[in-house]
Amino acid sequence: MNGLNKIKVIFTFFLTILSFCSYSQSNVFKVTLDAGHGDHDFGAVYSGRIEKNIALAIVLKVGKILELNPNVNVIYTRKTDVFVDLVERANIANRANSNIFVSIHCNANKNTAADGTETYVMGLSKVASNLEAAKKENSVITLEKDYKRKYEGFDPNSPESMIGMTLMQEEYLDNSISLATKIEDNFERLGKKLRQGGVKQAPFMVLHKAYMPRVLVETGFVSNPTEGNILNSEEGQDDIAKAIAEAILSYKREYFGSGGESDDSRPIRDTTPAKPKTTAPAAVTKNAPKGTFFKVQLIASIKKTPLEPKNFKGLKNVTMIYENNIYKYFYQETPDYETAKKYMEEAKNKGYGASFLVATKDGEKISIQDAIK
Ligand SMILES: [Zn+2]
Repeated sequence: MNGLNKIKVIFTFFLTILSFCSYSQSNVFKVTLDAGHGDHDFGAVYSGRIEKNIALAIVLKVGKILELNPNVNVIYTRKTDVFVDLVERANIANRANSNIFVSIHCNANKNTAADGTETYVMGLSKVASNLEAAKKENSVITLEKDYKRKYEGFDPNSPESMIGMTLMQEEYLDNSISLATKIEDNFERLGKKLRQGGVKQAPFMVLHKAYMPRVLVETGFVSNPTEGNILNSEEGQDDIAKAIAEAILSYKREYFGSGGESDDSRPIRDTTPAKPKTTAPAAVTKNAPKGTFFKVQLIASIKKTPLEPKNFKGLKNVTMIYENNIYKYFYQETPDYETAKKYMEEAKNKGYGASFLVATKDGEKISIQDAIK
C-alpha cells in the first residue's frame, strides 16, 4: 500500500468509528445524578444522620441500578465527599447534554414529627412550606466564593427573587412533572408517606440552572427519628434508590423507548393498578375556532384553580387546559400578535413575570414564529 492509500484507509476507518460513535450516542439516555451538599457543606444533621452522606449513598445506589442498562449513561455531579458549587452541578448536566437531571436531598424540620417525601419541579410556588424548602437548599450558595456575582444578585433568603430569572423555562415543565410523579408514585408503592401530595413546585437554584427536565427529590426527614433512621440504613437507602431508578427507567421507556434495558429493571410492582391517564379534553381541539390565535400562558401548575379573577390577580378571561398531568392557565385570546404582546405586558405588570405567549392554529399548538407568518 502506498502512502496515499494508507492515509485513505486510515481516514475511512476514523470516519466509520466517528459515525458509529455519534449513532450510538443518539441512542443513549443520559441521566445526571446530583447528590446534594458535600465536604464542609453537611446539609441537615440530626443525631448523626447526615444529609450529605445519605444523599451520596442513595445516588450511588441509583446509579448502580441504572448502569445495568447499556443504553443509559449516568453522569454524577459528585461520587465522593467533595464540595461542588450549585451552578456547577447544573452545568455538569448541561455540558453532558443530559436528558434529565435528578438532585437528591433529605429534608429537615424543627418539628421532628414532620415526615414524608417530596419531589419538586422548578416553579414559582407561593406556598410557604415549598418556599422554605427552596430557601434551605438554595442557601448553600453562600458557602461559595463570590456567590452574589455568580448568581446575578440572587438572594437565597428570598426565593421569590428568582421570578425575573425564570422566563421561558416552562418547556421542561411537562416532562419534569411526569418524572416527579413517577418518583412519588413509586415512593407511595413502597408505603412511604407523600408529604401533601408529593409533587410540588418551588424555585430551586440548582433546577433553575439546568436546561432539561429536572427534579429535586427530598427523600424524607432526617429530623424525624423513625424516618431518619430508615434514611440512614442500608436497606432504607436501597428501597429509595430502587424507587427512583425505576421511575427514571419508566420515564425513559415513555419518552425514549425501551431499547437496551436489562430484564431486572422492569417495574418493581406491576400489580398496582395504573392511574387513569388523563389527556386534554377532546373538546379543546374539536370546538376550537378556526384560524390562528395568540394567548398568554400565565402559569402551569399541578393544582387546579377555579377560573375567577380573584385567583389570578384580578385578570379576567382566564382559561385553562389540562394536559400531561398539569393545568395550564391562559390569559385572553386574540388573532392579533401586537394585541397579544400588550396582554402579555399586562400579565407581567400584574406579577406574572414568567408569562409568555403561545399560539394555536385551528386549536393546535404551533410556534410563535409560524403564527406570525
Ligand atoms: Zn439538601
